[in-house]
Amino acid sequence: MLRINMVPQTRDTSLNSLGERRLVTPASLADGTSWTAFADEKHLQVVRDAIDLLASRVLTKHQSSCDAFFKQMPGRRSLSDIVNGSRKYWIHHDPTGPDAGATAGMDVTLGTKALRGGKWAVLATLIHELAHTNGATDEKGDAEDALNHCGMSDHHLNANNRKPAGKPAARKSVAQTRR
Ligand SMILES: [Zn+2]
Repeated sequence: MLRINMVPQTRDTSLNSLGERRLVTPASLADGTSWTAFADEKHLQVVRDAIDLLASRVLTKHQSSCDAFFKQMPGRRSLSDIVNGSRKYWIHHDPTGPDAGATAGMDVTLGTKALRGGKWAVLATLIHELAHTNGATDEKGDAEDALNHCGMSDHHLNANNRKPAGKPAARKSVAQTRR
């Protein structure tokens, strides 16, 4: 299940259940990337909209290809299992880092580039980062390639290079850099 780290921190009623994962915020990186709580309602709304799209679009229309791609990653979990299962994946805010998103373990953080790009950019970043929680890498490229299998190929960072000549590039106004 995806949980959002936000202030004021809402009481987590599931903390007593065995196997549940408490919120432990990862340490910030030297480049400023941080895992902090969302405080701005506008940001929270974009994140909620992206999670809604994940359920209403990605895990409906594209569920089988998306889940199959995730299941061959080292972590072997389907995206459906990550989103709907009992393990907690925390989504944090990164107001200070250079990238659209970053991941430490099962903690995903969303940067200004993603949030400014709107719900689709956040959705693309979420899929990429959740692939990292499943062992996908940027070296192999399977974290970003997950977008191609989840109905989000227009948001793949190499989408511009693949566009046939003469076709306008479907690029977002804010360039996304996902780590
Ligand atoms: Zn990455």
